[in-house]
Amino acid sequence: MKCYYDLHIHSCLSPCAENDMTPNNIINMSLIKSLNLISVTDHNHCGNVEAVMKVAKSSQIMVIPGVEIQTKEEVHILCYFKTLYQLEQLMDKLEPFRLKIQNQPMKLGEQLLADEKDEIIARYPFALLTSFDVTLSWLFDAVKELKGAFVPAHINKRSNSIMSQLAFIPQDLDFKTAEIFLESEAFFDKYRLIKNSDAHQLVDISEPTHYIEINDWSIDSIFNSFFGV
Ligand SMILES: [Zn+2]
Ligand SMILES: [Zn+2]
Repeated sequence: MKCYYDLHIHSCLSPCAENDMTPNNIINMSLIKSLNLISVTDHNHCGNVEAVMKVAKSSQIMVIPGVEIQTKEEVHILCYFKTLYQLEQLMDKLEPFRLKIQNQPMKLGEQLLADEKDEIIARYPFALLTSFDVTLSWLFDAVKELKGAFVPAHINKRSNSIMSQLAFIPQDLDFKTAEIFLESEAFFDKYRLIKNSDAHQLVDISEPTHYIEINDWSIDSIFNSFFGV
């Protein structure tokens, strides 16, 4: 069966996203767009994922716990897990490597932590658009150890992608799936390619145009079809 997805959506926790990217608004817009599966992947923090998952429980939409991590090479990597617990374990591992610079909301944007009723419960104090002091290899190993999926984001974009920063794919990064930004190039044919919205505002959440065939709606089946793990 077809699974219409958008696995790269930013919430109001990302400074560059609109403040109305709240848990309920994201789920409601995903319902309007007839999506089956989404992931909220904020920059370097997963603080709104639990609220989004709670809202989704009363809908037909499945949520994969995820985050978009920026490594010291300034490459963006989407990291997905079968459980929120595994995602939080990754964030715990990363925390000692976080650059703690105060956010400047007026200049960089607000970083809002919301609950499942869309109440703002906190403002995250440190700037999230920075790199963790970890390499791509370190992140690959950490995600693998936690049985997650390491998916290079917007791999053929001119900024913050493996190709823009390194111009080659290191052999030790044995990932199976990549997110493409532009239409596919033969160079990437060896990977499963997914295309997401990278939405920072509600209207940009994907239309039901991208899908993957899955066998059933279990998280194991979805992970196997999307990420080969
Ligand atoms: Zn990105
Ligand atoms: Zn993004």
